[in-house]
Parts: sequence; structure tokens; C-alpha cells
Amino acid sequence: MILAANPTNSPTPDLSSNLTKVRQRIDRQVTQSNRASETVTLLAVSKKHPVEAISQLYTLGQRDFGENYVQEALTKIAATEHKDIVWHFIGPIQSNKTRAISENFNWVHTVDRLKIAQRLSEQRPEQHPKLNVCIQVNIDHQASKSGAAPSEVESLANAVSALPNLRLRGLMVIPNPETNIDGSAFKDAHALFNQIKKNNPSPHWDTLSMGMSGDLEQAIAHGSNIVRIGTDIFGPRP
Ligand SMILES: *Cc1c(COP(=O)(O)O)cnc(C)c1O
Repeated sequence: MILAANPTNSPTPDLSSNLTKVRQRIDRQVTQSNRASETVTLLAVSKKHPVEAISQLYTLGQRDFGENYVQEALTKIAATEHKDIVWHFIGPIQSNKTRAISENFNWVHTVDRLKIAQRLSEQRPEQHPKLNVCIQVNIDHQASKSGAAPSEVESLANAVSALPNLRLRGLMVIPNPETNIDGSAFKDAHALFNQIKKNNPSPHWDTLSMGMSGDLEQAIAHGSNIVRIGTDIFGPRP
């Protein structure tokens, strides 16, 4: 009896139909939440998947891609000929990696302390447009998670929005799915986003990055502008 498929023999996932299904889920929820469809961007999270999969999705119209590991990302960025891909860094940031991130990405979702933001700003090449950044918030107070404490976010936002080569866009969260069953962490993130917006730290404050394969509907219902989808587009990570 065959107990498990050999992963090396498994068929290439059908990226086209997966992408269509995810787009349909987004469209359905956007409609249900009475929002305009252009207010939600689909970020395809390509970590651990080959550049060929990125190229295939590119031909299907996908332009925003998310990567978590700097070295892996640099290899893929160099290997793709599509210069209009919008690259988003969504992994934890070590300070010795800020230069590579600032030189090669269009967005960074995981800024959680001022020192990292300062380095990203200082190291942004002069000829590049400002680097779009979100502040990652540990919205549900997880013990092992990165992200600024919710109580610190407003002062961090004020400091980051003053940095010359960054464009502060908003907040990013990764709630624990086991405690976010009711969507309360997304609701809290939306409230914090609106509270900071009222005090206007940045004229470009327009982005709430939240929602993954398992909870994108709930995230959109609570105001997400960028959903970060890996598994439901690319299949399971190797
Ligand atoms: C891997 C990852 C995702 C994608 O998760 P899936 O559950 O595979 O959709 C989204 N956001 C971040 C920050 C990630 O690290």
C-alpha cells in the first residue's frame, strides 16, 4: 500500500487555476464587504518556490511578489527578466541585511524598530524612489513573535515617517490563527490603523497588510489592503 506520494514525483501545481481561485475569493469578499476591488492587492508569497513559478504567474498578470529570505530573494530578483515586478520583503530583518533589502525591494512589511528603519532609509540608493514600508505590529501579544508592541506603534510611526528615503504606508500583522478564530486580532489591527491615521503621521498612510491563505476573507472583512498568499497559489512549500 502506498502511504504517501513522493514529493519529487508530484505534478506541478496548477498555478493558473490556483491564482484564479484566490482572485475569486478576494473578489467575493470585497463585494460582500462593500469595498471596491482595487482596494485589495494580492501579494503572491513565493518563498521556497522557484523563479519559474514566479515567471508563470507573471504571464498570468501577477505583479506583486513577497519573499522572506534575503539571499534566496536576491537570486530570484537577479534571475527574472521582468523588471516591473514589485518585490515585497516580508521576513524578519537582521540589521546586517538592511542594505541588500533597501537596494533591491520596493516594499518592506516588517519594520518593527527605529534602528532598522533608519538603516533602510540611509541605505536606499539615491536614484530609487522612496522605499515603501509598513510597521509590523505584534497585535495579539504573542510571546515569540516579532513586531512592535501596539502601545509603541504610534511613536514609532511618527519617527519612521520623518525618515527621508522611506514612505510609511501603514501596518502589517501576522496574528496567531489559533486565537484569531473570531477575527478579533484583525479588528484590533484595523482600529489601531485608523487611530494612527487620524493623527496623520504620513500622507501616504493607506495600507493594512493582513490575511494569508487560511484567513484572507476575514482579513478583507476587517479592512485589509494587501493579502499575502503563499500556499493557496503555489501549493505546499517544499
Ligand atoms: C509565508 C508567509 C505568508 C504566506 O502564508 P500562506 O499561509 O502560505 O499563504 C504570508 N505572510 C508572511 C509574513 C509569511 O511569512
